Amino acid sequence: MTIQDSPYALVASSQGPKAKVDSASTSPQQVENAYTMALRQFDGAAPFLNLKAGIVDMLKRCKRELTVTFPVKMDDGSVKIFTGYRVHHNTARGPSKGGIRYSPQVDLDEVRALAMWMTWKCAVVNIPYGGAKGGVICNPRELSLHELEGLTRRYATEIAPIIGPDRDIPAPDMGTNPQIMAWIMDTYSMHHGYSVPAVVTGKPVNIGGSAGRLEATGRGVMFTVQEAFKTFGWQLAGAEIVVQGFGNVGSITAQTAHQMGCKVVAVSDIDGAIYNPTGINIPKLQQYVKEFRTVVGFSEAEQITNDELLALPCDVLVPAATENQLTRVTAPRVRARKLVAEGANGPTTPEADAILNDMGLIVIPDILCNAGGVVVSYFEWVQDMQQLFWEEDAVTEQLRRIMVRSFHDVHNRAKELNTSLRNAALVLGIGRVAEATMTRGLYP
Ligand code: GLU
Repeated sequence: MTIQDSPYALVASSQGPKAKVDSASTSPQQVENAYTMALRQFDGAAPFLNLKAGIVDMLKRCKRELTVTFPVKMDDGSVKIFTGYRVHHNTARGPSKGGIRYSPQVDLDEVRALAMWMTWKCAVVNIPYGGAKGGVICNPRELSLHELEGLTRRYATEIAPIIGPDRDIPAPDMGTNPQIMAWIMDTYSMHHGYSVPAVVTGKPVNIGGSAGRLEATGRGVMFTVQEAFKTFGWQLAGAEIVVQGFGNVGSITAQTAHQMGCKVVAVSDIDGAIYNPTGINIPKLQQYVKEFRTVVGFSEAEQITNDELLALPCDVLVPAATENQLTRVTAPRVRARKLVAEGANGPTTPEADAILNDMGLIVIPDILCNAGGVVVSYFEWVQDMQQLFWEEDAVTEQLRRIMVRSFHDVHNRAKELNTSLRNAALVLGIGRVAEATMTRGLYP
């Protein structure tokens, strides 16, 4: 099987040698620094916790930050220098965990914010990890498969001293995919002289990946939406869903929503958005995307802009693209009637959060809503360590159990504190990390 034919072929392009990777829609109206945003969210939650000043200072900073600059041989014979990062925010609850992002926009502050969100996310769903994130400044859509492999193997080598199954376990994020994880796993293993599958998660299944990992984030999004509907006494069948982003998260969210009997009325990707008020045939759209690598041009829907998509009437709006999508400019235009379910990390700025709250909309926050990915990453790591693999049904059932339990943990905390689900999730996550820190005590 060639990479183009592989089921993990988000890197594969049917149209030529240039690699195509998981894409996301972006049209940031006003871009807020993600780390500033993460700190403002933290400051909103901290007063509920009565934390000592020293713990607050510690939790607001990242434990370890590595910046690497490295050369890659390009196909035309030239050498190009790239910059990458790997940041460990916190390891109080276990080894750090988090994805690697390939994007032209990545910078250290974004990686810090994403690492911090991973710490809270792992604590919210109560899996034994801290938080980390990595990134390389590059446009994977402009790299050939060969260049992408060279870049990945060299980046993996540069960050090798601080990753490992007991130390820090990378995974896919925007712009990366199972094939890239396979190269990282192979590079790390070559350095050790034996196979170390548990060094990354989100790998292809044939080298120690978990069944159901690829689908986990999107499924997890819909499990939380389903539980919210049940809890609030709403009917999910026939509910109108709008999904921004048709990468790994957005496409599986749309697929799962479709399977649950919802009506997916609009979706988008980096090239544009499509709308059909009677509901898009998602399996048919997925076939189309497989062939044309974009949702644009799908005949059974009208083309609209990304801004129009965010303002469509619907029951549930799922921002599953990138940060800074719901801002003080776009949030007032949102016409979702029930929920905003954050498939992406950090899609809503704190101002937008307040606006949506005032509008009476419930926001299922990223650190709960999209945690399905890291939950199944945890199952993958456990399976690798034990060399004992589970069936997909078992994986998905355990995922459902954790997402449902976590939804109620957060919802109950929100009721107790009379606050938003976001604030409650942060209080829960930050509280668990603070407790672990205090239990361990300070060394020396
Ligand atoms: N990148 C995903 C996230 O933001 C998954 C991380 C992981 O599986 O470690 O949650």
